Amino acid sequence: MKQRVAFIGLGNMGGPMAANLLSAGFAVSVFDLSDEACKVLAGKGASVAESAKAAADSVDFLITMLPAGKHVAGLYLGDDGLLSMLDASTTVLDCSTIDAQTAREVGEAAAARDIGFLDAPVSGGVAAAQAGTLAFMCGGDAKVFETAQAVLNAMGRASFHAGPAGAGQVAKACNNMLLAVHMLGTCEALAMGKEHGLDPARLSEIMLASSGRNWSLEVYNPWPDVMEGSPASNNYQPGFMVDLMAKDLGLAMDVAKTAGIDNSMGQLAQTLYEEHQGAGNGARDFSSVLERYRQK
Ligand code: NAD
Repeated sequence: MKQRVAFIGLGNMGGPMAANLLSAGFAVSVFDLSDEACKVLAGKGASVAESAKAAADSVDFLITMLPAGKHVAGLYLGDDGLLSMLDASTTVLDCSTIDAQTAREVGEAAAARDIGFLDAPVSGGVAAAQAGTLAFMCGGDAKVFETAQAVLNAMGRASFHAGPAGAGQVAKACNNMLLAVHMLGTCEALAMGKEHGLDPARLSEIMLASSGRNWSLEVYNPWPDVMEGSPASNNYQPGFMVDLMAKDLGLAMDVAKTAGIDNSMGQLAQTLYEEHQGAGNGARDFSSVLERYRQK
């Protein structure tokens, strides 16, 4: 018999993730506040439920992909929350990017009912969700991580067990803070070279073969027309939106604060990204922050 999965939150990411579960042969029941989003999945073979509870009834896996911590807490916790109706036969994965504290609270509430729970935020944007090549950073029990491989493999190409509940969100916050910092550093270096008459493509080639090499240079060059297919070469169509980077930097600030870490680099990145967002660039790709340096 097919394993049953409930998928709640069928937005830009959740929609294609649920579609990949259908392609992999799972029986998928879906729910979203948007009827439109549900209809798209119905067209691919999912059964549309009338509520989150109806979707999650008697499933092997329950997966959520929601905007923020308040949506996740609202759905799972409390007397009327989803955890109150589930038991150990369902494994729960929250793939949303949320604050680590909420992820820990949901993880603890699930453990109290003997329900396996993973916070499993993803790296890779909409294109990776569509292609089934996401990377999952998971927090929770190691046995639950093993059980979840069946669904993780259908949606991604890599999954990592980072530690106990909340550790997946901490890993995601660390990664995206570093991404913001090396993207800004890459933009700064390219703009500096250009002002001195260097060709950004040649400078990129030099730094790629030298110790400045990093992911932003390697696969996501922020200078227009240096790299075919990059958001920069496509008028900064996302990609990964500035709004989402600003959100993730906010989460990273909380992670740094609760750890008592001096994250001056992350704080500066947050200031620069929030300025860029405030200038009307929220819906553009995060590499568009290069323009800040070109408009000097
Ligand atoms: P989105 O806004 O496109 O989708 C969210 C969906 O959740 C919407 O369809 C909304 O109707 C639904 N929803 C909200 N509350 C609900 C509820 N209570 N019950 C049922 N449905 C509900 O967002 P997205 O881009 O798909 O992102 C989802 C998560 O993935 C976010 O946490 C985001 O930070 C993270 N993420 C996004 C990207 C990206 O590139 N878009 C990349 C990595 C991680």
